[in-house]
Amino acid sequence: MTLAIKYHTKVAGFLLKTLLLLSFSACRQEAPRYTQLEGKAQGTTFHINYRNAREQNFSGQVDSLFRRIDKSMSLWDSTSIISRVNRNEPGVVADEHLIKVYNRSREISERSGGAFDITVGPLVKAWGFSYKKGLPPPDSTKVDTLLQLIGFQKIRLENGVFVKNHPAMEIDVNAIAQGYTVDLIARFLEQQGIHDYLVEIGGEVRSAGKNERGEFWKIGIDKPLDNPEQERLLQTTLSLKNRSLATSGSYRKFVVRDGKKYSHAIDPATGYPITHNLLSVSVLADDCASADAYATAFLVMGMDKAMQLAQKQELEIYCVYADEKGALQVQATPGFLK
Ligand code: ADP
Ligand code: MG
Repeated sequence: MTLAIKYHTKVAGFLLKTLLLLSFSACRQEAPRYTQLEGKAQGTTFHINYRNAREQNFSGQVDSLFRRIDKSMSLWDSTSIISRVNRNEPGVVADEHLIKVYNRSREISERSGGAFDITVGPLVKAWGFSYKKGLPPPDSTKVDTLLQLIGFQKIRLENGVFVKNHPAMEIDVNAIAQGYTVDLIARFLEQQGIHDYLVEIGGEVRSAGKNERGEFWKIGIDKPLDNPEQERLLQTTLSLKNRSLATSGSYRKFVVRDGKKYSHAIDPATGYPITHNLLSVSVLADDCASADAYATAFLVMGMDKAMQLAQKQELEIYCVYADEKGALQVQATPGFLK
């Protein structure tokens, strides 16, 4: 009898403990666990935040994705596929990433009437935005000569091999590569069963699900200021609901020559860096590669054309521009402001 009681007490105690443990572990599982990864890549910084009950650290896998993209499309790596294509090395075959980026770029070139064009490479170099710095700005004769090499219709991909109309043509996918990498990392996280995350590289972001506080991820858009290195203020913030956001700004990256500021966005139609009063364009899209490329396209097009195309393509955009008095003004599609 005593034995039995003891036994029952023991069983009850065991059950109670197990229940406690179970409920405790249930609580533990419900408590959101977020892992943050951050560092430098692609000449900028990245931040990744994701919810993963097992607290797995994916920094090794993320690093290898960055390396793979560098080997495919970095202009700063002379052994990358894109560098070899630009040097016309024989027998160079594009990898799946460069093929995808090229196809998406071509589509956006067509839709933007050529405002977005990855064949701007020779102009980007001449204006000094990539690796050759400190050259004098090109004169109009030089620009006219280089314009012969520009045009997305003058290059094609045949079984992974780039065929150029002119051997001096060079491609530059810097305006879409960051967004593409954001998508790649997001897809990797999803393959690990992660549904709550934020991936950001150099200001281009993609999010899914919710943050640590159970809210949709909140993103800030920088105020376009003259000295972004010294001062950083937010123009606005928004909740990102399973979407991507990219911003291109003529204020953020520029070179100063002979006391004049040149934006790093180049109008492929004229061969000159843009000079209009549109200071920044932020684009919401389902994928970050498109948001990134369209942000550059819209910046090149200027505000009126950008607003028209955004409505046609059903993209949400937010433009910051300077009025005649130099004051910052905003124009956005109704969907963006929602
Ligand atoms: P960021 O996000 O740093 O503002 P962008 O995504 O706007 O940069 O890309 C700018 C880069 O894109 C330039 O440095 C240049 O390499 C390239 N670029 C410049 N003009 C164009 C253009 N019209 N179409 C495609 N790429 C461009
Ligand atoms: Mg871009």
